[in-house]
Amino acid sequence: MATQVLVRYGEIALKGKNRGQFEQQLLHNLKAAVTDFDGKVVRMHGRFMVTGPGEHGDKMIERLSRVFGVVSVSPVSETGLDLEDIKAKAAEITGQFSPGQKTFKVEARRSNKNFPYTSPEISRALGSHLQQLFPDLVVDLKQPAFKLAVEIGFDRAYLYRERTAGPGGLPVGISGRSLLLLSGGIDSPVAGWLAMKRGLFTEALHFHSFPFTSRRSQEKAVDLCRKLAAYSNKIPLHMISMTAIQKELKASCPENLGIILLRRMMYRLAEMVSGRRNLQALVTGENLGQVASQTLESIDVISRSTGMLVLRPLLGFDKREIIGLAEKIDTYETSVLPYEDCCTVFLPGSPVTKPRLDVVEKYEGLLDMESLLGGAIESLETKIVGRV
Ligand code: ATP
Ligand code: MG
Repeated sequence: MATQVLVRYGEIALKGKNRGQFEQQLLHNLKAAVTDFDGKVVRMHGRFMVTGPGEHGDKMIERLSRVFGVVSVSPVSETGLDLEDIKAKAAEITGQFSPGQKTFKVEARRSNKNFPYTSPEISRALGSHLQQLFPDLVVDLKQPAFKLAVEIGFDRAYLYRERTAGPGGLPVGISGRSLLLLSGGIDSPVAGWLAMKRGLFTEALHFHSFPFTSRRSQEKAVDLCRKLAAYSNKIPLHMISMTAIQKELKASCPENLGIILLRRMMYRLAEMVSGRRNLQALVTGENLGQVASQTLESIDVISRSTGMLVLRPLLGFDKREIIGLAEKIDTYETSVLPYEDCCTVFLPGSPVTKPRLDVVEKYEGLLDMESLLGGAIESLETKIVGRV
């Protein structure tokens, strides 16, 4: 038997042209989420209906409930527009699910005003029918243990009892294209998720220091992208080696400026990758005040290495809140695996917290920027990471 899933989205805030774009992008993303199950998506008065093979029902619901823009999803049963048919279907669903559940409520919604009964009339008719068939059921409108919803559409009626929450937000792709600077830490995957939540298509860039960092630390970046891809289908992941740059910085610059200089090189390389891939903004997991490289002065000096827009979605979050989100999106366990990051390899003892731009630029003036950046870009490898 086929599975049918009703997909609801947040229509309230949508107006005019935005609404059309939102629905178009959401339709595209929903199709991409179920295409390998042969799922079909159709638009249906302010909702989407997804149909696919019954054996993939649970998996399809899981996928659909991670598409940004989706507010909630429900597996539904459908009948013709006849009150007797609807009653029979309601009885069938209740028989399957209600054992042990004594309080219930029927909630009807009528999009099709030509249907001859009003919503309260439908609710009452179904409620009393179910009570006759299942004498243990007691109506409780406030806190029912079991809720049966009925939607009267234009051609069919839809019945369901479960609702799985979606992530909300805007469909990925609608707001533009960004590049996430993805370390192996807790913060950057969460920052990427938040950027995607606001409709940004996101590619990722990871800097490594192989062979000073292990292959496993690169695989960690792949694993994190895979977790994020559950929300956006696919994430192109770029990897660049910082080994030569780090060696040069260590040899010719003061140790306490190391992190600032390294970050500025990262931003420049990120800008180069963005140019090639037509990406409009950088996204980082920076969060004011956590570490020496994240004081206002440091963030300022680091930012001045690029002309690109840099988005920092975590700026207003406490660490506890970031960890909570990382757990929710299932990146936390991967992030805390103890593989060394490229920044920890050559980390200076006490980095400056108030770097001066003129001093930083003086040291950069001594470097052969073109060959350092050119050499690093040559190490670029790209992998398309799909969802699990
Ligand atoms: P995270 O948990 O994301 O590593 P953090 O709190 O440890 O963040 P930093 O190590 O100062 O902060 O890094 C700040 C930001 O710089 C990261 O959130 C990330 O966006 C970027 N970044 C740091 N290291 C790397 C790396 N190896 N590859 C790509 N981006 C990086
Ligand atoms: Mg880090």
